[in-house]
Amino acid sequence: MLEFKYFPDFAKEAVFDPRGCAFCGRVPALAGAWLDFDEYYDDPPAACIDDLIADKARVDIPRRLQERLAQAVHASHPDWDGEQVAAYVASRTDELAHTPPVPWVQENEWPIWVDDYAVYVGQLIRDKLVER
Ligand SMILES: [Zn+2]
Repeated sequence: MLEFKYFPDFAKEAVFDPRGCAFCGRVPALAGAWLDFDEYYDDPPAACIDDLIADKARVDIPRRLQERLAQAVHASHPDWDGEQVAAYVASRTDELAHTPPVPWVQENEWPIWVDDYAVYVGQLIRDKLVER
């Protein structure tokens, strides 16, 4: 079974588009609204998870978010030089760009936790609060 580090429960919460994947036609495919398709801005096509993993589509991770992660990494690892920080941020961002988007995270602005993007473990709903 597919596992995504930043969104382990994607099958329950990702948004799928009934029209199918723009590349291979597979259904279900991830809704394209959060994907990086500049030329289709008004109605971005959907992409299946395999094509997301294969880099035919990627999630648009804002540059300002990558810069914020770089600052957090620099603060957590003051001994790292600029190249180490840049390589680390590029690798984490590449993984996040190939993770199904969480629909309510506007513009893919993932929270940052210490020196990495946060793992999305689901919405905090009333039942979960009552369980605690
Ligand atoms: Zn596909």
